[in-house]
Amino acid sequence: MMHKMKCIGVLTSGGDAPGMNAALRAVTRTAIFNKLQVKAIYRGYKGLITGEIVSFQTQSVSNIIQQGGTIIKTARCPEFHTSEGRKKAYENLLKEGIDGLVVIGGDGTFTGARYFSQEYDIPVVGIPGTIDNDLYGTDYTLGYDTALNTIIQAVDKIRDTASSHDRLFVVEVMGRDAGFLALYGAIASGAEAAIIPEIITETNQLDELIQNGFRKTKNSSIVLVSESDIIGGAMTVAERLKEKGYDPRVSILGYIQRGGSPSALDRILASRMGVAAVDALMDGQRSIMIGIVNNEITYVPFTKAIKDEKALDKYLFDVLRLLSI
Ligand code: ADP
Repeated sequence: MMHKMKCIGVLTSGGDAPGMNAALRAVTRTAIFNKLQVKAIYRGYKGLITGEIVSFQTQSVSNIIQQGGTIIKTARCPEFHTSEGRKKAYENLLKEGIDGLVVIGGDGTFTGARYFSQEYDIPVVGIPGTIDNDLYGTDYTLGYDTALNTIIQAVDKIRDTASSHDRLFVVEVMGRDAGFLALYGAIASGAEAAIIPEIITETNQLDELIQNGFRKTKNSSIVLVSESDIIGGAMTVAERLKEKGYDPRVSILGYIQRGGSPSALDRILASRMGVAAVDALMDGQRSIMIGIVNNEITYVPFTKAIKDEKALDKYLFDVLRLLSI
């Protein structure tokens, strides 16, 4: 018979993302509603190893649903890559009486969680928190919608200058090696093109994309570029454009994309996923990530969420092209 869970630990790890606090709130309150104890582990796996663990009550998560970042902090923790580090982490879980763990983070966080739950008898459930939206098995990750909204607000402002000066702008957005933010951001801001790692754009094609509008019907142009090393970011694209005779300006949006108050969509997603994570632990699930597919909550094994490549809908690339004439 499954033993009854008594105390849930929760941590945020890896890159922060808007909506992590809303998820923490949902996990805490769902656990308390179900008469479970909740302990917050500060600074991700680092706090698990050093024992930075605090009991949470319902009021511990008051007034945080609207805050970006994570009130329980996040950190990168090289020690968790070692079996000695994970042993210390497990000893602290035992000491604190934590018998189920919710980890909010990205693929690195889930990779660590997977090793941890293989080595030790501790069920772990993940909530996808990353603005990059690059996890397989979920349509959306926490923070992605907020980051997209930040991007379109920034591009709207850049467009004022682009159109006043008849200029071409190359705007670099985040996303690591995934092009979701660049492609969807380009569609939502009415940009002329998106340069993303999933689709190799040759210099000639780039020229053609810009010629499409810039030289015929428009006097300004905006190209969104993924930060990905595969592309080399906005600077590399701008160099290629200079060789073609353009005079582009570069804007790298940077960390403004990671912060800020979460959008309504992210708050709702975080709330649903937080409830689902605690329900999953109580149901005896382990080593899974909570996902959302076609607006339904799903359970995705860590192995799949980490390893499988999430496909970007290439049709959207055609939509962008069609609408930028
Ligand atoms: P994200 O979760 O946003 O992808 P990271 O890749 O930085 O962020 O991972 C967060 C933390 O997860 C790391 O600092 C480390 O403690 C842990 N982690 C990542 N990869 C592994 C791994 N292969 N083995 C053990 N722990 C890992």
